[in-house]
Amino acid sequence: LRSEFINVERLSLVGQMAAGITHEIRNPMAVVRGFLQLMQEKSPDTLDHYYRIVMEELDRANSIINDFLSLAQNRTAEKEECHLHDIIHELSPLLWADANLRGQSIELKLGSMMPKLLLNPKEMKQLILNLCRNGMEAMGEKGTLTIETRLEGEQVKLFVKDTGIGIPDDVLQRLFEPFFTTKNKGTGLGLALCMSVVQRHNGTIDVKSSEGQGTVFIISLPVRSSPQTMIEPQSAAAFE
Ligand code: ADP
Ligand code: MG
Repeated sequence: LRSEFINVERLSLVGQMAAGITHEIRNPMAVVRGFLQLMQEKSPDTLDHYYRIVMEELDRANSIINDFLSLAQNRTAEKEECHLHDIIHELSPLLWADANLRGQSIELKLGSMMPKLLLNPKEMKQLILNLCRNGMEAMGEKGTLTIETRLEGEQVKLFVKDTGIGIPDDVLQRLFEPFFTTKNKGTGLGLALCMSVVQRHNGTIDVKSSEGQGTVFIISLPVRSSPQTMIEPQSAAAFE
């Protein structure tokens, strides 16, 4: 029953987004078309400038399509028993490379005695990647992104914390709205995607932010969503 309920929710989000996407893709396309028309009669310098705009807008349309597809696909995504830490470790090279380019650092604080969870690894990767990218984009050089995991009672908690600009109240209200973005090159689909992934894992997502100081996103995932996801206490040490 629970899974049917989630599917209906998902469909309506995808449906809602299909309408939005038409609008969002038409915008960059209109810009590209307009600038191509202007290009017919311009000097080389101006052409250079227009060329960059056209490429950026095409990239933007491409990002929107990619983000939308990751949301619309995985409809019947299979879950498997896995360790959240394995997923984080697989993402590490990508995250470190990204942070390096920005002059930022990443701290991992992974909890001990963490049980396996019933997860879709591909979706989990997208979730963590999206939260980390947002964190990095909110920080300047010297910022620190912290990825922390903890077992708290019946829940595994994942914290993605940044030392960035923080989120003002009016933005906080609209955070998970599809296509809501405050960035020039944003798609506004990252957190909508995160929310749908978390819902499909029967989890919750919380945000705490303080302007000028930073933000933390907290993902809570149930350990007991299926009885066989539990591991015996004595074997837990083997995973450390
Ligand atoms: P996008 O990153 O494409 O803008 P998202 O859905 O990922 O779309 O995020 C929506 C908006 O939420 C961002 O444009 C930004 O204003 C805000 N936001 C998300 N994460 C953070 C963060 N860690 N710090 C500050 N603002 C954030
Ligand atoms: Mg984002």
